[in-house]
Amino acid sequence: MSRMLIMGPPGAGKGTQAANIVKYYGVPHISTGDMFRAAIKNETELGKLAKSYMDKGELVPDSVTIGIVKERLLQPDCKKGFLLDGFPRNLNQAESFDEMLESLGIAVDFVINIEVDPQILIDRVVGRRVCPVCGATFHVEYNKPKVEGICDECGAELIQRKDDTVETATNRLKVYADQTAPLLKYYQEQVFNVDGSKSLEEVFASIKEHLGER
Ligand code: AMP
Repeated sequence: MSRMLIMGPPGAGKGTQAANIVKYYGVPHISTGDMFRAAIKNETELGKLAKSYMDKGELVPDSVTIGIVKERLLQPDCKKGFLLDGFPRNLNQAESFDEMLESLGIAVDFVINIEVDPQILIDRVVGRRVCPVCGATFHVEYNKPKVEGICDECGAELIQRKDDTVETATNRLKVYADQTAPLLKYYQEQVFNVDGSKSLEEVFASIKEHLGER
């Protein structure tokens, strides 16, 4: 059983690799970004609040984010392990997460850190296209769908995330460098780095090499 975190700056390929990992290891994928996007789509109060921060590339307040993760981790499917994607994103979230894990008598086994040269990240983020139905992600150049603009998985029309503009992505990168990157030190015992500038297949191969067989 594995309890894993996946980290890396926006555009590193976290979501894409997370999808591969959960498929291969059979654990739930918990993405705080996806949870917020679902809330926005469903026009809930949480969605309205999250949207005001996400549109600017800012972090949603910790109290809200920590609350939704706590609730999610208590679901029975997390008993077999999980992959957290996009959380924790600052020291306060990491400390609250530790308390959560401690109260459940569990710990983080692996922290996957995808490293990518900041210069190529904006290009990756701005060229990203996502499926609004099943959540699959593509890139207009580096990970093209079979038919332009159409999801390979479910056939829906692909969209561009509202926060995948140059301006918002630039701020998200800054927030990452200031608040999230310092967590790599916090998790130094569990972290392993993978070179995210390689092809999607190569990146997944090196992740599997570190995580071992399922
Ligand atoms: P992501 O899909 O992980 O790139 O997240 C998209 C946006 O959702 C971020 O830019 C934040 O506004 C918000 N978000 C996602 N995860 C968190 C988190 N752990 N803490 C605060 N805000 C978050």
